[in-house]
Order: sequence, then structure tokens, then C-alpha cells
Amino acid sequence: DPRVARISAAIRVVPDFPKPGIRFRDVTTLLLDHQSFKDTIDILVEKYKDKNIDVVAGIEARGFIFGPPIALAIGAKFVPMRKPRKLPGEVIGEEYTLEYGTDRIELHVGAVQPGERVLLIDDLIATGGTLRAAISLLERVGAQVAECACVIGLRDLKGQERLGSKPLFILVECE
Ligand code: IMP
Repeated sequence: DPRVARISAAIRVVPDFPKPGIRFRDVTTLLLDHQSFKDTIDILVEKYKDKNIDVVAGIEARGFIFGPPIALAIGAKFVPMRKPRKLPGEVIGEEYTLEYGTDRIELHVGAVQPGERVLLIDDLIATGGTLRAAISLLERVGAQVAECACVIGLRDLKGQERLGSKPLFILVECE
């Protein structure tokens, strides 16, 4: 897809953020390029519009940027999956391990109904730990995670392997 090269070029790499040695992929520069931001959403909408998706679930924080325009365009509802103590209602959560320590992702009880087909969105997959936890949580409430989609995939970290057989779509592959 000829649109992908421009999307890739619009993503800034910030060295040593948030700590030394990390090359942070910054999608805020993609949002400044109207054509590239639109192309990103268009590609995902074209891919998922006829897939009977009931719910687009976005992972905090940058899944909240890409998820809602896709949900609106494909006629699905949008559900935020958030860090602890952010959602005001009754929540269900899933812990997962990071390189140092643990984290947790939460979902409002009742936001996703048993049997609903979910498209899970985040900006970037590295190890796949975040998406793995989000899939587990959605499956615990009886949802069917149809597919995961990320704007960026870090190839070296082999995130796809953590997701097992779950389909994963990546727009821009990075080293
Ligand atoms: P994973 O759980 O190791 O796959 O890490 C993915 C999560 O970390 C996602 O929620 C990303 O938003 C975030 N993340 C990790 N590295 C980067 C980066 O370089 N840019 C933006 N987000 C990142």
C-alpha cells in the first residue's frame, strides 16, 4: 500500500525516551500530518468495515486516538481499556508483568457483552504483553476478540508470538 511509506515517515523516533537506550516511536507527529492520519484511519476502516465488529476496544492512552474514528466509521461502539483507578464505574481488571514490576488494565463491567466481536486497537506492539492482557480480560467477560491492530510493530520483540494464533494486523513494521 503506497500510503504506508508516508505514514511511516510521519512517525518520529525520539532517542533515549522515557529512559536511556529506548527509541520511542512518537505518533503525535503522525497526527500533525492530516493526510497520513487520515490514511491510517482509512486503511483500518477499509480492513474492518465488513467484518461484523461490534466493539472497538482501545488501550490507554494512544488506543484512544486511533480507536474512536475507526469505531464511528465501521458502526461499532468504542470501549476504553484503562490503567488502574481511572474508570469510575465497576471494573474488572487483569494484571500483567512488565520488564520491571507489574501493570494492570481495567474495563467497565457491562461495557462489552458476552459474544460480542471485538477489534482491539493500540498504537504499538512491542513484547505483546499489553495486548495479551487485554485479550485475556475481554475473553473473561465472554467477548470474542476477532483481531488486534496496531499502527506500529517492533519486529525484534516478537510480540506476535505472545498472542498465539490471534490475528494481528500491523501497519508499519519497525526494526
Ligand atoms: P508491549 O506490552 O511490550 O507490547 O508494549 C506496548 C505498550 O507500550 C503499548 O501500549 C504502547 O503504547 C507502549 N509503548 C512501548 N514502546 C513504545 C514506543 O516506542 N512508542 C509508543 N508507545 C510505546
